[in-house]
Amino acid sequence: MPTPAADVDAMAAGVRAGNRRALAKAITLIESTRADHRAQGEALLAALLPATGGAIRMGISGAPGAGKSTFIEVLGLLLTGAGHRVAVLAVDPSSSLSGGSILGDKTRMEELARDPQAFIRPSPSGGTLGGVAARTREAMLACEAAGFDVVIVETVGVGQSETAVAGMTDVFVLLQLPNAGDDLQAIKRGIVELADVVVYNKTDIDPQAAKVAMGQMKNALTLLQPGAAGWRPPVLGVSAARREGIDAFWREVVRCRDTQAASGQLADKRRRQAQDWMWALIDSGLRERFRAHPGVRAALPTCSAQVAAGTLTPTAAASRLLDTLERRTHRA
Ligand code: GDP
Repeated sequence: MPTPAADVDAMAAGVRAGNRRALAKAITLIESTRADHRAQGEALLAALLPATGGAIRMGISGAPGAGKSTFIEVLGLLLTGAGHRVAVLAVDPSSSLSGGSILGDKTRMEELARDPQAFIRPSPSGGTLGGVAARTREAMLACEAAGFDVVIVETVGVGQSETAVAGMTDVFVLLQLPNAGDDLQAIKRGIVELADVVVYNKTDIDPQAAKVAMGQMKNALTLLQPGAAGWRPPVLGVSAARREGIDAFWREVVRCRDTQAASGQLADKRRRQAQDWMWALIDSGLRERFRAHPGVRAALPTCSAQVAAGTLTPTAAASRLLDTLERRTHRA
């Protein structure tokens, strides 16, 4: 991990030259929570910013076992074979929720990981924002600066992670299983509304069941408002294991992105996403500072106990704690 400022410049140059080692180090720096690293990470991002924005940003979410890693590996190899450079950022919110990791435990995407035109990076789940690692968006920008023209952000459907990933990508893909109930889950949780493309994987197992599930999903989608530029999410069937339907899928992703770009909505969306990310960082930063504040720390246990006992209203407790923060801030 470099410390002097000159190393930040060298690292930025390495990233912009497309060096994967430099990129990996850069992301480690960006993700570091140490105060001095944070400042360097900011400087690094500032140096990289002019080189960002050039990738197709694709988010993908699905339940554990839906076939995400199989699918991304096959897609990634197809794309690198066609001359693309593909970065995959795997976000695993489950590791912070359950203490175990769904994405990290097994060796994933071995073949793609060996491909020199690919870069795979699991994001640590510490410091989560809506279930997404707090620096995933910045890591995505670093990948773009390194010349990766396809960036895939993968997440397990836990907590708010889909909303967060959909909020930082151009095209959000929902990977479904043709099992009874999987589509209902997605519809109930409001995830279908986020999808630009819905994919049913493992259609090789029971093609008839897949057809039924896809039909139901198509019906459910007709009830939703069309997206940007009148986009209606297509519903596709694939078999990642048999490498079937993957190129047709990619054509839809490109068509979705092109539709947004042609109507000017892509630029609007990205501007809005950058502002939303700023607010998400402000919210989480304020919460962090609030909890770390000595006055708050001193008063919190009592206030919290009184709220639980019913002797203090949540409103009064919240005001008291927030006022503590304010008093201290004014004096400082
Ligand atoms: P993830 O947890 O979503 O990343 O899922 P994996 O990619 O690890 O896949 C879970 C299991 O499903 C593995 O045993 C895969 O081999 C299998 N699998 C993935 N895609 C397909 C497919 O299209 N057809 C069949 N039959 N099995 C698949």
